[in-house]
Amino acid sequence: MKNIGLIREALAQVFRRPVTLKYPFERKPVPKDFRGRPVWDMMRCVGCGLCARVCPSGAIEMVGRGPTSEIKHYVDRCMFCGQCAESCPRRAITMTQEYELAGFDRGKMLHEYKRGSRLKTWGTSVESR
Ligand code: SF4
Ligand code: SF4
Repeated sequence: MKNIGLIREALAQVFRRPVTLKYPFERKPVPKDFRGRPVWDMMRCVGCGLCARVCPSGAIEMVGRGPTSEIKHYVDRCMFCGQCAESCPRRAITMTQEYELAGFDRGKMLHEYKRGSRLKTWGTSVESR
């Protein structure tokens, strides 16, 4: 008789929806303030270098200084803390909701932000605005 409760619970579980998702076929939306891959708006950036200075994991490299400088972001070193975006005096960095960033080729995890073109691609590419 003691097992009646157990049996009832087991039967109830059979008809319940699973709490897990069939990732990657199903996804939950990320929370509003989620910190994914940071991206740079080079139209706003003045090349002060503060983001590179405050980055705790050395994921940002400045190429030159000032309005002609370029920025390299090494996603494989980034821990998505958001410190760069917090510190930027020009609000040039946005923490996106992009989180599926794993890969086999570290070379593809470098994002270069150059000036002068609006080309925006992924990988060993140029992302400029
Ligand atoms: S802190 Fe902002 S303005 Fe300064 S270099 Fe970084 S992105 Fe550009
Ligand atoms: S999110 Fe954090 S670790 Fe990533 S680049 Fe910005 S400061 Fe560096």
